[in-house]
Amino acid sequence: MFNTLMFKELSDVIRNSSKVVIISHANPDGDAMGSSLGLYLFLKKLGIAAKIIVPNDYPMFLAWMPSIDDVVIYDKNTTLANEVLNEADLFCYLDFNTESRTGLMHNDLCHFNKTSKVLIDHHIGADFSKFEAVISETNISSTSQLVAEFIKYHGFNDYLDKDIATCLMVGIVTDTGSFAHSVDMTTFNICGELLSTSIDYKQIHQNIFDNSSENRLRLLGFLIKDRMNVLNEYNTAYIYASKSDLEDYKYQVGDTEGVVNYPLSISNIKMSVLITERQGAIRLSFRSKGTFSVNDLAKKHFNGGGHLNAAGGTLTNCTLEQAIDKLLSILPEYQKMLTE
Ligand code: 5GP
Ligand code: MN
Repeated sequence: MFNTLMFKELSDVIRNSSKVVIISHANPDGDAMGSSLGLYLFLKKLGIAAKIIVPNDYPMFLAWMPSIDDVVIYDKNTTLANEVLNEADLFCYLDFNTESRTGLMHNDLCHFNKTSKVLIDHHIGADFSKFEAVISETNISSTSQLVAEFIKYHGFNDYLDKDIATCLMVGIVTDTGSFAHSVDMTTFNICGELLSTSIDYKQIHQNIFDNSSENRLRLLGFLIKDRMNVLNEYNTAYIYASKSDLEDYKYQVGDTEGVVNYPLSISNIKMSVLITERQGAIRLSFRSKGTFSVNDLAKKHFNGGGHLNAAGGTLTNCTLEQAIDKLLSILPEYQKMLTE
């Protein structure tokens, strides 16, 4: 099922490099961090010098992950990040495929158009021509699963260990909503192999999902009670959070992660949207059930994209109210698809 020729090409490019930088997307999630750290630890075992750069900080609930302190956070340490980028002879892009997904880092990355690049990703829309080697599988649970398959290609017996398996499991668990969606036989098979390293799955799950602050849980309660609007005529619900709402609950990075999923638990709701006011921009998160493509909607109207059932987008130079109005104005276009 996996294209071993792609694995070989990627392996050859990586092995011919001496300084690799692994780069993932802005607002890195469990899969961004899990796949990056998993690949990083594997490259170390191959004897290849590697570094990880992410555009901005990861959520607190991932701070326990093995080797996470090695990660360079671009917006906190831009000078070091640029030094690392300058020295590299290969960039590995993980869990995204368009450079604009690197947020503030995008401008600096544009200066490195001569550096070789490879891609491991599971989002729609990869442009293969920009990379020396590509693993792009849009039907696979997560980039972490793809990294696991890539390591397996080299031999789990030789390279898989508890730390690598822990990182990859984080990515798979978070990107599948604890195995609720985007899973198939290959996902369970590879997870079985990750478990064989005697990782503590229960502890991993607790570290991710039972690690909230009181403020985070109260923010969730507030958003669902006071900031959720259900539009039954469109089988859609949206939740919005202003900057001051977030400040009231002492918002920390990652605190709104997962909030967008809750409206989907209402039986008729086919699309859920979370709209948050961030520094200078409005972020939108989309989730859907069934065949309704939030990827198409996010791409067409919100400068974004992602997957069929999970996508994101950004509006700049726009207020929260204008973003809500925009969402409301485009819903009639999708009413038939959302209600049939
Ligand atoms: P989230 O709502 O969790 O931020 O993102 C959902 C999914 O959509 C993730 O797989 C994420 O990588 C992708 N995504 C989020 N924002 C964007 C965006 O602005 N552009 C694209 N192409 N994908 C996005
Ligand atoms: Mn992912």
